[in-house]
Amino acid sequence: MPFVETYTYPQTRKRTSDSYVKFSPDHRVVLRMLDNQAKLIWKHWIPEANAGRGMMANCPNTASVRECPIEKSLVGLAKDDPKVIERRAKKRYVVNVLDRTPYTVCSSCNENTPKGKNCNNCQAALKGSQDYAPLNRVKLLESGPQLFATNLMQVEKLQKEDFPDNEITDYDIVFMTSGTGRERKIAATPQPPSDLEADALLDKETGEEQKRFDLDLLSEPSSIEEIELMLSGATIDEINAARGIA
Ligand SMILES: [Zn+2]
Ligand SMILES: [Zn+2]
Repeated sequence: MPFVETYTYPQTRKRTSDSYVKFSPDHRVVLRMLDNQAKLIWKHWIPEANAGRGMMANCPNTASVRECPIEKSLVGLAKDDPKVIERRAKKRYVVNVLDRTPYTVCSSCNENTPKGKNCNNCQAALKGSQDYAPLNRVKLLESGPQLFATNLMQVEKLQKEDFPDNEITDYDIVFMTSGTGRERKIAATPQPPSDLEADALLDKETGEEQKRFDLDLLSEPSSIEEIELMLSGATIDEINAARGIA
């Protein structure tokens, strides 16, 4: 793969939910994988962090170092204790993707909205005659084993039968979502291999290649100090300030 610029450490830490792919039953999502391999990260959900809105922390435990304050707080509790179910480290996978969901400009509110029955922003009905173009924005796809180890592995396996010479980065994948919360189901369907448009990876404003996320930075273990700040309800800004990131 040619050299691609990645976000710096402070930029990575200050990413927002806008950087992540969101699935919705209201519209299909089309993604092109940009990395061949997703990164596995063990994460804890800390509900009291970020002034009670909750945040994820990367578990600092390794095979030899067992110093994670969250794991320590769960010692002695039963496996099915609600606190254990909520807080134990869970497998998350993360990968850079190009979000190629078809978007259009809503004629009622002039905002960009994904293809669906209604505008995502003002709920006005979208006309069938709208012009749609792929969003083509680099984002992160983060999810659990259900999506990665089951759906995407299956996609790759099926696609290899028809296109043995192609990698998962060579074709778009369409994701259809049904239901929400625990009932949510996502079906992934691969499209035939295709080249991206020449400008697909460029930033629409600067014309430069869009930066990617450094998966090693994203998977860096959270420090003990940081986890303790989260447990005391600190906000993202407070946690970044404690680490010298303005
Ligand atoms: Zn942990
Ligand atoms: Zn609208």
